[in-house]
Amino acid sequence: MMSIKAEYIWIDGYKPTANLRSKTKVVDHFIRSVADAPEWSFDGSSTRQAEGNSSDCLLKPVCIVPDPMRGEPNVLVLCEVLNADGSVHVSNNRAALRILAEKYADQDAWFGIEQEYNLYKNKMPLGFPENGYPAPQGRYYCGVGANAIFGRDVVEAHLSACLAAGLKLDGINAEVMPGQWEFQVGPLGPLAVADHLWLSRWLLNRIGENFGVEVKLEPKPVSGDWNGAGAHTNFSTAAMRAAGGIKVIEEACQKLRVKHAEHIKVYGAGNEKRLTGQHETCSINDFRYGVSDRGASIRIPIHTAKKGCGYLEDRRPAANMDPYQVCAKLMETVCGE
Ligand code: ADP
Ligand code: MN
Ligand code: MN
Ligand code: MN
Repeated sequence: MMSIKAEYIWIDGYKPTANLRSKTKVVDHFIRSVADAPEWSFDGSSTRQAEGNSSDCLLKPVCIVPDPMRGEPNVLVLCEVLNADGSVHVSNNRAALRILAEKYADQDAWFGIEQEYNLYKNKMPLGFPENGYPAPQGRYYCGVGANAIFGRDVVEAHLSACLAAGLKLDGINAEVMPGQWEFQVGPLGPLAVADHLWLSRWLLNRIGENFGVEVKLEPKPVSGDWNGAGAHTNFSTAAMRAAGGIKVIEEACQKLRVKHAEHIKVYGAGNEKRLTGQHETCSINDFRYGVSDRGASIRIPIHTAKKGCGYLEDRRPAANMDPYQVCAKLMETVCGE
């Protein structure tokens, strides 16, 4: 008899920042699509998703990819969390994005998310000495060599695993702080980009286990003169990508200005420590947009300005944001009237 390991992955109910959870189901048939993956359940009282006296939550498979850790034909099964009666669980932010994605499907929204993160070993950022601080920022970003780069083996293993799983990563780079890295996902539609980002976060944490390395998505892991960790969210609609789209991009920026506070609410917990107006950020209390401006809330890339069409970069989201919420907010504000 055939035995396939299916790793069911979901997002828990911790606040203000949720965590990934997963457990393995062994099945006796291939899982090639969502239709082949049975619904399952878990103990919601252990994940802050239910009370002990009625603890069952349901796992509804929504995205299946090959499992690069166990190898084919094993799979990763990303799930939405439902209540026992089949209704949407309050921790399930994907459900709202599903509705918006359908509502505005005709605008063909694309997203590209730059996930920054920090690697830690023994509770210390990789590259930090046991006492004191490493050399100040400067040589680390896109660096090479043992005095600048910490954790490349983890990062390489992660990129290979994501590509083997069919996740649409479009690049990686070492970041400004030692032990800090970035990968980019996209461009993809709203549900796909968010699903791929959550699955790639799961793989990063899973691979970190093999290296004894912890992954942190905290917006400001080390206070002082060290860059924070963000999740710049690049966004376009068909109208922005078409000739003359720069006008639509500027209109989008005006809409985003009015909703600044609403957006910040879902852009990650602790983001005020990161959005100080220093270290390539705009203050959390201001909203500015500009061409090539890395001190703005929204940056219009130079190639977009030159071509007169393309996309905008929302620089405000923190590394620990939920992409279901960020993509939903952007669609609601920009795609709506
Ligand atoms: P930078 O570091 O200069 O801000 P990156 O190269 O790290 O930029 O990331 C650019 C991101 O923009 C990528 O995730 C890519 O998928 C995304 N992107 C490219 N074109 C589009 C587009 N038309 N719409 C939305 N996102 C896009
Ligand atoms: Mn980048
Ligand atoms: Mn970056
Ligand atoms: Mn960026």
